[in-house]
Amino acid sequence: MAQNPINSVHFDPLLASGPGGLSCPDSYWASTIASPPQINPALTGTSQTDVGIIGGGYTGLLTAYYLATEFNIHATVLEANQIGFGASGRNAGFVLKGSGRLGYGQMANRWGLDTAKGIYSEFSQAVERVSDLIKDNKILCEPQQPGYLKIAHNAKAFKQLEQAAKFITRELGGQAELIPLKQLTNEYMAHNQAYGALRLEDGFGVNPLKLVLGYKQRVEARGIKIYENSCVEHWIEEQGKHRLITEQGELLAKRVVSADNAYTPKRFSPRVDGKFLPILSNIIVTEPLTGLRRLGQWAYYHYGWLRDRYG
Ligand SMILES: Cc1cc2nc3c(=O)[nH]c(=O)nc-3n(C[C@H](O)[C@H](O)[C@H](O)COP(=O)(O)OP(=O)(O)OC[C@H]3O[C@@H](n4cnc5c(N)ncnc54)[C@H](O)[C@@H]3O)c2cc1C
Repeated sequence: MAQNPINSVHFDPLLASGPGGLSCPDSYWASTIASPPQINPALTGTSQTDVGIIGGGYTGLLTAYYLATEFNIHATVLEANQIGFGASGRNAGFVLKGSGRLGYGQMANRWGLDTAKGIYSEFSQAVERVSDLIKDNKILCEPQQPGYLKIAHNAKAFKQLEQAAKFITRELGGQAELIPLKQLTNEYMAHNQAYGALRLEDGFGVNPLKLVLGYKQRVEARGIKIYENSCVEHWIEEQGKHRLITEQGELLAKRVVSADNAYTPKRFSPRVDGKFLPILSNIIVTEPLTGLRRLGQWAYYHYGWLRDRYG
């Protein structure tokens, strides 16, 4: 397969010829993988499937997994690069109830309490689902202790967190604990710009790359074919059938799931053209903290603890 001329890691839809021929990024997460994962062969020749899935991130792999486990439907996954190439292998690893910038109270004001409850319930189920998938399939992706802190950076923000805690516990029936500054300093973190925090119990961190590689294993264990280095270059619909054409092969599918995320070209298929909304998100990872900095943090933490305890 031709290597992407722009560079081999970043994908810029305005410059790249297509989403294939790219290497997995040399990320922090990649540095935690002891030995490089086995890469599956590319699709060659012509194959048939019930559902052709374009893209092997969380969406594509779990679609294949649930089609097989819950509906006994045979799917085939075509991944342009390697599993873990996309956002699923390079995100921040937070498994959280993400409500964006709107709080649940604001949602209730805008759309009614039932809608806010529905959104909260879907978020809760999503976190539970990932947690269950990890446990049931024994995926070694370093799940962290549950609990998620929202830190207030000023007194007004702390007031808002207080209201949020009340709303979540009283109106939504969820778990939320308001953590005053003293407790935050003693039990979690000491920071001179913190005013307290809201602690949500159900949320945790994972190694996202290990998670997606774990999904790959589980999907393959169900006998589902995953072809890597198999970028779908053309998606043609003929007589009610779909032809997914890669550089070396063709997959004939009754149905197609487009799980190619932000890598979907502007013109791909009338089924998906113009239906993607790009959102940009970045992560910055610091260098590992030096011993001196860690010592500083430790001393600061214990100073706070001693000060609170003994004045
Ligand atoms: C910086 C960042 C931080 C994030 N942090 C979090 C977080 O902490 N918690 C959270 O829940 N979410 C987070 N997200 C969002 C989350 O990572 C994504 O929602 C999720 O990974 C999307 O999975 P996906 O399978 O839809 O797409 P992807 O993982 O991007 O997979 C799409 C795959 O499709 C393949 N593909 C594309 N075109 C083709 C083609 N033509 N043929 C074959 N294959 C193709 C690509 O190579 C790619 O591997 C973050 C995202 C980013 C970018």
